[in-house]
Amino acid sequence: MLNAIGFWITNLRDDALPSPQELVGDMPASLREQLASYLTAGHRFRQFRGYSWCRFDCGIQYSQMGSWDLTDGTWVWPEGLPHYVREHGIVLPSEFVAHVLAGAAPRQPSPSEEISADFWRQWSATRRSSEFLKALRTAQDSAEVWISAAKAELPLAVVEAQALHGGLRDLLREFSPAPRGSS
Ligand SMILES: [Zn+2]
Repeated sequence: MLNAIGFWITNLRDDALPSPQELVGDMPASLREQLASYLTAGHRFRQFRGYSWCRFDCGIQYSQMGSWDLTDGTWVWPEGLPHYVREHGIVLPSEFVAHVLAGAAPRQPSPSEEISADFWRQWSATRRSSEFLKALRTAQDSAEVWISAAKAELPLAVVEAQALHGGLRDLLREFSPAPRGSS
């Protein structure tokens, strides 16, 4: 069983997974770099149909966020996770940090090994921001109103993608610091 870390909210109806904005925290720069390097060097485990996207909308190309899940045989994470650690100052569970610092050699798990997100959900649940969750529910309510009105005119899948995915991107932008260099 592989323990998932670094999986993020994907649309406005998803309140089980956190946004990386909620996990920004302090960590010594040398440890941050060590974790990011470790995450970058993981084995490829499985690939998705599309690229991931930076939840901070910082302008990094989708292709650089990757489309793979990487693993060390104990943990599994999306290929874009080191970007959040290095560029956006997120913190990760101390259990994972201890594993990295212990220096065990990564191993390639069997392709059929199962993934559990239970640990990640429980760990991130204690760190969620009530301010973010409140804004999420408000945005979700507006999206649902818009969906029920617009689905008479357009295919439901199109309406939902626009409202739930587009709406999440708008919401996350409100919680992201302005990029360096802008006013
Ligand atoms: Zn970014």
